[in-house]
Amino acid sequence: MERTLAIIKPDGVVRKLVGTVIQRLEQEGIRVAGMKMIRLTKVQAKGFYKVHQDKPFFDSVTDFMSSGPCVVMVLEGEDVIAHYRKIMGATDFKKAAEGTIRRDFATDIEKNVVHGSDSPETAAFEIGYFFSAMEVG
Ligand code: ATP
Ligand code: MG
Repeated sequence: MERTLAIIKPDGVVRKLVGTVIQRLEQEGIRVAGMKMIRLTKVQAKGFYKVHQDKPFFDSVTDFMSSGPCVVMVLEGEDVIAHYRKIMGATDFKKAAEGTIRRDFATDIEKNVVHGSDSPETAAFEIGYFFSAMEVG
């Protein structure tokens, strides 16, 4: 069993896509092992996306991620990092495969509804960023 960190980004929460996203994960056999709603400060958003600190979109994406509440989740399943990334679809929703969350709901390369860790190392950092051991079961 593997774990990954998922976020329903502020655009997904505002657009009332929380239930839809969770339903898609559970229908695919993924288990929600931890979940809460949080509002990131700009500083916390910068800490989360620090791997992107030199990218041109860093200031914009961290403004976006701190613009409203997010739902953060720990997901559990076999090969769940790759499995969930497949369900999310490509970063750019125009390039995302049919039936993926981003293809169906994203409106912009930045406002793309969901986040998912991209490796076991990233998942460990990102889960620890949001959850204590007591909050995951
Ligand atoms: P995430 O890390 O959010 O799961 P990802 O791994 O598909 O997405 P990254 O390359 O890690 O994509 O980019 C992180 C986030 O930064 C993207 O999800 C998107 O919100 C934003 N982003 C990425 N590329 C661009 C871009 N070219 N212009 C604007 N925003 C971007
Ligand atoms: Mg990423």
